[in-house]
Amino acid sequence: MTSLNQDLSGKVALVTGSASGIGKDIAVTFAQAGAAVGIADINLEAAQKTVDAIKDKGGKALAIAMDVTSESAVNDGVKALVDEFGSIDILVSNAGIQIINPIHKLEFADWKKMQAIHLDGAFLTTKAALQYMYTNDNTGTVIYMGSVHSHEASLYKAPYVTAKHGLLGLCRVLAKEGAEYNVRAHVICPGFVKTPLVEKQIPEQAKEKGISEEEVVNDIMLVNTVDKEFTSTEDIAQLALFLAAFPTNVFTGQSIVASHGWFMN
Ligand code: NAD
Repeated sequence: MTSLNQDLSGKVALVTGSASGIGKDIAVTFAQAGAAVGIADINLEAAQKTVDAIKDKGGKALAIAMDVTSESAVNDGVKALVDEFGSIDILVSNAGIQIINPIHKLEFADWKKMQAIHLDGAFLTTKAALQYMYTNDNTGTVIYMGSVHSHEASLYKAPYVTAKHGLLGLCRVLAKEGAEYNVRAHVICPGFVKTPLVEKQIPEQAKEKGISEEEVVNDIMLVNTVDKEFTSTEDIAQLALFLAAFPTNVFTGQSIVASHGWFMN
């Protein structure tokens, strides 16, 4: 029987999109658990603020300017992290955006942008991290930030739902390929979390549908939860920590849904 361990001392983690929201909370939580963390984001100024907050509490972190859709930026960023801290043991591929439009009105450019950030970003960061994970003697853990939309569809979210479903495939293949190198793969699937990504949608949807913001929250976003509660960034950070610190491969290839019962496997 294996016991629970929440200690990441000596581990090095890269968290993309960690200047804000869910990624930021994961990065801070990992640093508190002892990991050195790369704060990789397109917004370098905000990434540096996350780094400063971690360092103020005695943690180790590095701000990395990274557009996850750029192969060279991803490779350079991963190398910078390894140069600074000596390895990469954990990757959280989390950077993401949302674009909402019905399929018949959706611009092809917006479709491609969504697939690039969510899927190309996941592939490029994984490939870059594996160059190091496959050569060290330790284990490696890759966590993709999926969504309830990795399992469910919603109106007007075709590119997002498609990309989030796609992450399940990448995760499952990596779980199989990575096994011989002791590399595990997981997808975390949150319900609605009140981050800037979601805060923006509430007034937009209220305007679009001619309803109040309260109705958007209760009658659309949280309608299928069991308790009308948002998932929190802390919930997701604790789940990521659990997976990153777990000592065996037992969860490899799995998606874990954290959604107050909105979606039940
Ligand atoms: P957020 O907007 O608070 O943070 C996203 C971060 O990603 C930002 O710091 C942004 O600068 C960064 N980013 C955007 N494009 C980038 C790029 N090309 N390269 C690097 N960084 C980039 O959003 P969030 O809600 O914390 O979302 C984080 C992840 O969680 C996303 O993948 C999102 O799809 C997923 N998710 C969010 C929710 C939710 O309800 N908020 C639910 C399920 C899944």
